Amino acid sequence: MKENRLSHSGEQRESGKQQVIDTIRAAGSIARIDISTATRVSPATVTAITAELIDVGLIEEIIPDVPRQDAKRGRPRVALKIRGNAHRIAGIKVSHRVISVVLLDFEGNDIVGHEMPLQQACMSVSLLCTEIMNALAQACGKGGFDVSTISGIGVGLAGLVDAKRNFVYWSSSLDERNVDFGAHLAQHTPCPIFIDNDANLVAKAEHLFGKGQNVSDFVVITIEHGVGMGIVINNEIYRGSRGCGAEFGHTKVQLEGALCQCGQRGCLEAYVGDYALLREANITNGGVGHRDLGQLVEAAQSGDQMACSIFDRAGRMFAMGLANVVNVFDPKLIILSGARLSFDYLYSEQVIQEMQRWVVQVDAPSPEVLVHSWGDLMWAKGAAAYAIEEVSALAIRELASSEK
Ligand SMILES: [Zn+2]
Repeated sequence: MKENRLSHSGEQRESGKQQVIDTIRAAGSIARIDISTATRVSPATVTAITAELIDVGLIEEIIPDVPRQDAKRGRPRVALKIRGNAHRIAGIKVSHRVISVVLLDFEGNDIVGHEMPLQQACMSVSLLCTEIMNALAQACGKGGFDVSTISGIGVGLAGLVDAKRNFVYWSSSLDERNVDFGAHLAQHTPCPIFIDNDANLVAKAEHLFGKGQNVSDFVVITIEHGVGMGIVINNEIYRGSRGCGAEFGHTKVQLEGALCQCGQRGCLEAYVGDYALLREANITNGGVGHRDLGQLVEAAQSGDQMACSIFDRAGRMFAMGLANVVNVFDPKLIILSGARLSFDYLYSEQVIQEMQRWVVQVDAPSPEVLVHSWGDLMWAKGAAAYAIEEVSALAIRELASSEK
């Protein structure tokens, strides 16, 4: 085997370590020789790197369970795995009415899941920081340990977020624009914080734990209060140059159309988001409307014409949006991901068929569309998975710099 030559520069040492730890994480447990094959790093270098990673407690050796007939052939091969106890990581998702928290160990195993209701959906920066820290403290309390034992916090927010800078251009949870949210949250905790758009984190969760496992290129579309999208290209989340790519909900579907919560007009979200449907219902009904989406769905199910036509239009708008996504990206797979699948107006066979009609016609099958229903805790798990990756990168960077 040809060795992927690592020079002695700190940067390359760091990337070698990162490659090794990523390979171990992806495999679950793996022998040194298989790491060498997967990474094309020489067995000697893999041995040196893994010794160091064991030394600092990021990975550990295990003897895998071997079936009896294989065990006869000799000593079972020692494998390496991520050491779960190395770090405790929090993932937090801020929704319209609730903050969801999951605590995972460094290996990605669930420790605690917790949900804390929110009194209001849109609030000041300082109140949102306080609420996030309260939810985190409650989750830690449930697990019986102190917040100070957390090594990294991933936070998912709806809106336009530059993840690299932990900067929020706009979020429906915040009452002001252009917020250096990472810096604000850092005033409450010394722990490293990683903020991202919530749909990106769902894409991360789908990639690691859901329907996107072993798929290198796919698109996730989330429908909640608003409409979000996460794009995975070549196993990486695509974020755009300013961190505001993949804003499917704010693609324009109508010139000077309905007012969107982002402040612009004609966005897809302003036709298919929960708030848009309720607004439409209330306007059509002369202001005497439905309190929540559940009520509107019930009305449609019992044959109410006005309710039916609202859902019908939303479904057609959504199908048009999906067809545009396919025509731009031509992904292998589209995952419609969310907790609202009981409200199936956007996930129906009719919507998918309509989408297929609007996709450019070639003699090859259209992309597969999968529907995946999961709750807010799964979104939070995506936030935790993002934080695990970032904490891992920080640990490797510290290790490399201590060797310089
Ligand atoms: Zn908008």
